[in-house]
Amino acid sequence: MFAKLDVPSQRPNDADVIIVGAGMVGAAIACLLASQGRSVRLIETRLPEPFSPEQPLDLRVSAISQASVALLDKAGAWQHLQQMRLCPYRRLETWEQAGCATRFSAEELGLPQLGYIIENRLIQLALLRRIEDFANIQTHTPAAVQSLQQNGDHATLLLDDGTELQASWVLACDGAESLTRRLAGIGVSRFEYRQHCMLINIDTEFEQEDITWQQFTPSGPRAFLPLPGQHGSLVWYDSPARIRALSALDNEALAAEVRQHFPTRLGGFRVTGKGSFPLVRRHANDYHAGRVVLLGDAAHTINPLAGQGVNLGFKDVACWSELLEAAGDNWQDPALARRYERRRRPDNMLMQSGMDLFYAAFSNDIGPLRLARNLALNLADKAGPLKEMALRYALGLV
Ligand SMILES: Cc1cc2nc3c(=O)[nH]c(=O)nc-3n(C[C@H](O)[C@H](O)[C@H](O)COP(=O)(O)OP(=O)(O)OC[C@H]3O[C@@H](n4cnc5c(N)ncnc54)[C@H](O)[C@@H]3O)c2cc1C
Repeated sequence: MFAKLDVPSQRPNDADVIIVGAGMVGAAIACLLASQGRSVRLIETRLPEPFSPEQPLDLRVSAISQASVALLDKAGAWQHLQQMRLCPYRRLETWEQAGCATRFSAEELGLPQLGYIIENRLIQLALLRRIEDFANIQTHTPAAVQSLQQNGDHATLLLDDGTELQASWVLACDGAESLTRRLAGIGVSRFEYRQHCMLINIDTEFEQEDITWQQFTPSGPRAFLPLPGQHGSLVWYDSPARIRALSALDNEALAAEVRQHFPTRLGGFRVTGKGSFPLVRRHANDYHAGRVVLLGDAAHTINPLAGQGVNLGFKDVACWSELLEAAGDNWQDPALARRYERRRRPDNMLMQSGMDLFYAAFSNDIGPLRLARNLALNLADKAGPLKEMALRYALGLV
């Protein structure tokens, strides 16, 4: 799969679009632009390990919305994902105090499911498999960008293997610490939350139900995401010091802590893997500079408490591919980049601010605030059309 191209050091290679980073976002935009007939160069520093069904489940998983499923289907990757591993969820529940929960269900919206929990690596692999079908995508891997030069209507990238590439657009899909963003001279605003998060994979005593849940506590949420079969993913948000201490425990000691601090509805389980992550909100000061356009985590990162990061990235992908397609012969028009930013920035900012509101409102133990937020959760559960609208927005359906 994903054959390595031995492109010798040579004259500038022209392409319509260069994509830096073949993660979930970069690989998705590559498929969509290639299907529009664009010539694409895709640069990636490291490829994921191929899939085999007996592999243990990865720690990095994402809650994929209905809108993202539609995008992956349009990109031609969904069929490959269905042949690997995924877990649909049909219900979602969130609460702080017992009796004050907000519950959502697919049934309310007349949908077969609210979304899927899928390993990030498998989403990337499914897209990379689809990429093999396109003669107009050339991949450079392992390769990394060394320098970027902008020359009016095109940009030139020099790779570390000596290859020089030139294109009308360079899409920075190289993640939160994007080098391409830096080379384009785009700054970023950054905020470190006072919480880190720990991902814990578990084997469960019973086959999973179709529910994902999250309990807010003053030191941070505790969440459960179902994985296929008798597996699940726990997310434990807490102070950096507490997460460091938990990370130092062996699996049995960690399981004992989970039993003490997670809701009893978790049932019997065994810890099989763990990893911790700092939580950082970033937002690029601009989504474009000259011929460089930022997509996905290169443009924005968000508190993962509602599992929206890559879903926003896929909305960037949908927006950019639609703009290019609609532009027809004017696909090189610099105004497209401005239009892209005008469409995507408000949506990304709204979601970032929404997550910050939850973070600020729930990460404390102030009596009146606790009362107010539990009342709010209770009211939200009975809010009828408002509740449905919020759910539709979270699923990317509006
Ligand atoms: C704890 C946690 C839980 C999360 N849970 C969810 C969730 O439930 N749902 C959700 O939607 N989102 C979730 N997210 C967010 C989600 O993981 C990210 O939004 C997503 O991975 C971003 O994808 P991306 O393709 O933009 O970037 P990345 O996944 O970072 O991919 C970037 C790619 O670029 C490559 N690259 C980097 N630098 C270079 C270079 N110089 N040259 C070439 N290639 C390069 C990398 O190797 C990589 O393949 C979570 C995040 C965290 C931290």
